[in-house]
Order: sequence, then structure tokens, then C-alpha cells
Amino acid sequence: MTGDIYTFKILRYDSSVPEKRPEFQLYRIRVIPGLTVLTVLNRIRDEIDGTLAFRASCRSAVCGSCAMVVNGKIDLACRTQVASFDTREIILEPLPNLEIIKDLVVDMTPFWNMYEKIRPYLVRNSADPEKEIYQSEGDRKRIDQFVNCILCACCYGACPVLSRNPDYAGPAALAKLERFISDSRDERPMKELEAVNNDKGVWGCDTMLRCIDACPKDVRPTDSIVSLRKKLIKYKLLGKGNK
Ligand code: SF4
Repeated sequence: MTGDIYTFKILRYDSSVPEKRPEFQLYRIRVIPGLTVLTVLNRIRDEIDGTLAFRASCRSAVCGSCAMVVNGKIDLACRTQVASFDTREIILEPLPNLEIIKDLVVDMTPFWNMYEKIRPYLVRNSADPEKEIYQSEGDRKRIDQFVNCILCACCYGACPVLSRNPDYAGPAALAKLERFISDSRDERPMKELEAVNNDKGVWGCDTMLRCIDACPKDVRPTDSIVSLRKKLIKYKLLGKGNK
């Protein structure tokens, strides 16, 4: 038989049975080269233990559903090769900074609430043009990295500020705010930035850069926070209401 035997230690918890404390459950699985953590999770659920809960969909690092902690590192299970670790023990835990619903499934409500607050869409005041709204290649390039965000919440789980201040907007929401406010087609007034001109917004970031380390799509949320800070200072000094 090919492949090595791995021990998967998976944190189990059911919020509907709160009196039962979280505990690790062990599964021993033979893993052939090329298998991802998500493939193994599917095998455990389908062949060994149908009660194991985790989220997943695309298996291609596009949907952002399978974010979790693998051997202490936050990443997507679908893009993490089991054989990439130099140990035969793989520890799987749910994303930090969010309440566990069951096993590896966390309650994403606070993440989505923050995201919704920044109005994550193009805000227009002008009448709609007859054709599409033109955007130059240079203007598109300016927002490229932030467009790549798949809303997986890896950065949210990695953020040390959120671990002590759940009211902080978080890296993903601020990166999306930068993505839209810097979009040449967006017409929201600069005064909208007032909402993040505080410790719950852009000034709350400790610039520990853990969000950058955690992001599977090479988005750099800290860059967006620095850019928003600059925009705010300019807006305050020059007092310009519109972009
Ligand atoms: Fe995920 Fe990166 Fe977007 Fe954060 S910025 S939600 S880590 S893709």
C-alpha cells in the first residue's frame, strides 16, 4: 500500500451541547502524496464519521469556505497539502476570533456584519451611463490586489486586535473599503471615511501584519489600512468632501 499513516487531531465541539467541553478526536488515515487537508476531511466525514462538521465548496481556493487552523497556521484546507508538513500529526482547529458552531464551522456573523457596514459595492450619484462605466487599465491596477479578496476570513482569524476588541472592523472589511473608495467608478463622499476614523476602524490596527501572512490570495490588508489613513488625513487637512 502506498502512502503514510497520518494522525489527524480535530477539535470537536457542539455549541448545542455547551456543557460538553471542546476536545480533540483522533483519526488515523493513510495519505498518498498529493492529498489536501480538505480531501482527507471529506474522507473522514464520508467513510468514518458522518458527524464531523466543516465548511467547503469549490476545492480550488476560490470560494473561501474552508479556512481553518492547520498545525497552528491559518489557511484554506483545500490548498494545504498534507505532505507539506514534516510531521505525521496534523492538528485541525476552527478559525480564531469567531464563535464555534460545530467542530470546524464558526459563526461568521460578526465578519459579515463588518463587511456589510462598509457598503461593499459601487456607490453612484450620477445617472447611469448608456454603456458600461469606463475604467482605465491603470485605475483597475490600483485596486487589483483588493479585488482578489475571496472573503475567507483567514485575516480576521489571524488579527491580534480582534482577539481583544471584537468591535474592530477587521482587515477584510477595511481592505474592501479601500477597494471601493479607490475605484475610479465609485462616487461615495469622503465623509463616509469618518465611520472608520477611530480605534474600531483604521486607527485600531497594530500593524502586526499577521493578516498579510494569513491571506491565501496575497492581499495585503495592512496596505489598505495605511492608504485609508492617508486619505483620512488628507480629507481632514484639505476638507474636501468628495473624491
Ligand atoms: Fe481572505 Fe485575504 Fe480577503 Fe482576508 S483579505 S478575507 S485573508 S482573501
